[in-house]
Amino acid sequence: GGALGSLGKSRAKFISAEETTGVTFDDFAGQEYIKRELQEIVRILKNDEEFQNKGIYCPKGVLLHGPPGTGKTLLAKAIAGEAGVPFFAATGTDFVEMFVGVAAARVKDLFSSARSFAPSIIFIDEIDAIGSKRGGPDLGGGGAEREQGLLQILTEMDGFKVSTSQVLVIGATNRLDILDPALLRKGRFDKIIRVGLPSKDGRLAILQVHAKNKFFRSEEEKNTVLQEIAELSVDFTGAELQNVLNEAGILTARKDLDYIGREELLEALKRQKGTFETGQEDSTEIPEELKLRLAYREAAVAVLACYYPDCHRPFTETDIRSIRSQPNMRYAETSGKVFSKKSDFVNSIVRACAPRVIEEEMFGIDNLCWISAKATFEASRLAEFLILQTGMTAFGKTFYRNQSDLVPNLAAKLEALRDEYMRFAVEKCSSVLREYQSAVETITDTLLEKGEIKAKEIWGIYKKAPRIPQPPVHPVDEYGALIHAGRWGIYGNSLPG
Ligand code: ADP
Repeated sequence: GGALGSLGKSRAKFISAEETTGVTFDDFAGQEYIKRELQEIVRILKNDEEFQNKGIYCPKGVLLHGPPGTGKTLLAKAIAGEAGVPFFAATGTDFVEMFVGVAAARVKDLFSSARSFAPSIIFIDEIDAIGSKRGGPDLGGGGAEREQGLLQILTEMDGFKVSTSQVLVIGATNRLDILDPALLRKGRFDKIIRVGLPSKDGRLAILQVHAKNKFFRSEEEKNTVLQEIAELSVDFTGAELQNVLNEAGILTARKDLDYIGREELLEALKRQKGTFETGQEDSTEIPEELKLRLAYREAAVAVLACYYPDCHRPFTETDIRSIRSQPNMRYAETSGKVFSKKSDFVNSIVRACAPRVIEEEMFGIDNLCWISAKATFEASRLAEFLILQTGMTAFGKTFYRNQSDLVPNLAAKLEALRDEYMRFAVEKCSSVLREYQSAVETITDTLLEKGEIKAKEIWGIYKKAPRIPQPPVHPVDEYGALIHAGRWGIYGNSLPG
């Protein structure tokens, strides 16, 4: 180590500092669009001054969210590697200690180290450990301590001027839902990138990356067998795929073979899958009431999925074995161009309401729980997207990045129109669920009994179920909603009379 070598030793152990990570975007495979987005940030970080002269600044914070093992740390290191700037990393849980004041002091330490080597990158893994919602349930204990740490992060991020010391803060989490909204505000982590599970092509690309330094009999055999593994490894993360190749390498060595073959890869895949399935078997731990709520939620989501089938994302199955804030329903992989009409967007808003609507229907508004809370967020987000970014509504044809781009008049317009869409979506969703009440009950029973249900069975129940006719739902009244928002006021008129 050069300049950073001494820093790494003298500073507290919880920071790991690297002068250069040596990681590049080539090391991350699949999800090419993520790299394209980050490439721009790298360019800004690299020619700092040139961009500053043009008034283009790097975002202060980028939040990578997605399941563990999908390559978030890898991406953060690749940004540092590509930009050639030093990398300071810490983990959210390291900040939270028993001793009062430690969290805030550690945050300060991290930022001042990074600032003295700017331009540089700070990476905070598991940022949810320190940045979870204030005032929420104190799951891990140490609430006050965590709050101090969180406030310190906010202060540090607000404190540095973009134009002087360029420090890019990258956070990683798999619990976006519990992050304090203050962290996501403009000028903080305002660029949020989802790093999801890789598609089939993505999995093949990841396997290719990690097969580079391994021995195969021929290039041809390697391509064929990796293709097969990519097809069989649905829902695997990048880390798990890397594991499959490593495990296959170990098996090959154990058998005293020179080349990794199909048999070793399949064996390794089976082993990796095994750890998977046992991981899911703790379902008995879920309390009965939560199970019932999960079953109703999945059943409602399933009925809505049948009512508004999405040909680009056909669902495959669902279960009540894990508790997440989003539905457990799984979808088939389809590739190719997506052709979506306005009605498809609107239908997706209706579908997104299902968890919230069914829970209120079955358990009452005063008895909702968090497993449906995400639905409200998701439905509002979709409505906002339709209104602000597609130009398909009475709001107008202009593209707005987000709500904070809006002047007050427009913000009021947005609110009125979004409320109108949400009103429609909730009414329509509950109308569908009431019409198909019997299907919802049957699917719920099946889930409670077997723990899971496949698409074919869901379709069977849906098609056979007796239906209860419902009164029509008043469609979205876009123009009315805008007038209601004071459209006349905008032009200085008042309604006649
Ligand atoms: P996360 O931070 O999301 O938990 P990591 O970045 O720690 O995941 O991933 C662990 C390892 O898995 C990486 O170092 C890399 O070797 C491998 N990996 C994960 N995702 C990918 C990917 N998309 N392409 C290549 N390798 C990957």
